[in-house]
Amino acid sequence: MIYQRHIPEDELLFIQLETLMQNGRVATLISQLIGVVSTLLVFWQYLSPVVMLAWASACLVFLLLHQLYISNALADRRYQSNPRRVYWQLIIGTAIAGAIWSAAYIYAASRVPITMQYMFLLLIVMITIFSMGYSIVIREYFLVYVFTSLWPIAWWTLVHYWDHTYNFLIGFMLLAFCALLVSLSDRVYQSFRNMVSLNWERESITRELSELTGSLRERNRELRDARRQLTDLANIDDLTGLGNRRMINTVLQDEINRARRTGISIAVILVDVDYFKNYNDNYGHPAGDIVLKRLAELMRRASNRAGEMVGRYGGEEFILILPGASRSSALRTAKRLKQLVVDENIPHAKSEVADHITISQGLASVVPGTDMNPDELVKRADTALYLAKGKGRNAIVFDSPVQVEESLNR
Ligand code: GH3
Ligand code: MG
Ligand code: MG
Repeated sequence: MIYQRHIPEDELLFIQLETLMQNGRVATLISQLIGVVSTLLVFWQYLSPVVMLAWASACLVFLLLHQLYISNALADRRYQSNPRRVYWQLIIGTAIAGAIWSAAYIYAASRVPITMQYMFLLLIVMITIFSMGYSIVIREYFLVYVFTSLWPIAWWTLVHYWDHTYNFLIGFMLLAFCALLVSLSDRVYQSFRNMVSLNWERESITRELSELTGSLRERNRELRDARRQLTDLANIDDLTGLGNRRMINTVLQDEINRARRTGISIAVILVDVDYFKNYNDNYGHPAGDIVLKRLAELMRRASNRAGEMVGRYGGEEFILILPGASRSSALRTAKRLKQLVVDENIPHAKSEVADHITISQGLASVVPGTDMNPDELVKRADTALYLAKGKGRNAIVFDSPVQVEESLNR
């Protein structure tokens, strides 16, 4: 989303309508009710009770309808779906409210004592000033109220200047007061508008920033996934899901370094499937692939201690890296693996050593010195593996010829 610097007019109107209705609802009710009750008290002795009660009832009905309208408009968010309509209805409502007061004043002026008349005028002025506090959010709303309540009274007073000594003065003062309210309302309204705009801009910046942060986080995650995929591609063997030669070398180097630092041993087992070429020739290459996958799983199971790792060294050769393993514990692992392969009992009709798949294992275990490196260690295991093949296969042999631990063929 493109950052929008200024509040759109529609948005401003929503906020104005909502604020006016929420803040003005109770305040209008209270101020108008106080006005109606005060009027009844002030004029009770001077005007016909029937007229006064009719007027008060009309006022109450109007106030109730007004409240009902505002509550409904707020509840179903009509100020958002149809703001112009709500705007005009509110303007008409305020015009009626203003007219109620000016009409009452003009009606009462010739029928009550002058002091009561001025007291009533004071009451109307006070209600107007009070209503400015909540209705200024829509300037026109307030101005329509002023021009239907005070403005007609001002002109009526001026026109009837001969009725009372001070009418002329009061008429002019009321006109001046209206002018003052217009200019004051303009200033207050501008401040309100600026405040709403600033608030809106701050909120929209915050929203933009959080969207931006969200998309950055998402991008970051994608990048991390992509990097992980790339690393996997570079280090994982497709067929078996084991680490490939590249990963084996890295892990071996790390483990040799660690073993050198801590002075503990490290063992590797190089595994080669016996007569696997024959297997492929007999059962087909895809069947051979399945065997490699099953063997990979068995090797995972045989070397499940923390830090141990299985990799596909190449073709049908695998390697088990056993950090910290002594010769005897490496031998135990090799025997466990051999047993697992025997238990798996994968038929191999063309093997010259058994009727099922067998493996040969070459073991090397060292406490690495400074000259030890991955190639050297694997070479030792490879030598042992070669010996195991020489001993007729399906065998486990250590790198030192004098330490042949086990050979099934013997
Ligand atoms: P031995 O090791 O017992 O001396 O005999 P061998 O038949 O296993 O001999 P060698 O190690 O030379 O043969 C390896 C065979 O492994 C040859 C090749 O067809 C097969 N091979 C290597 N990689 C794959 C592979 O990814 N999938 C399949 N199906 N076969 C493979
Ligand atoms: Mg081989
Ligand atoms: Mg082989």
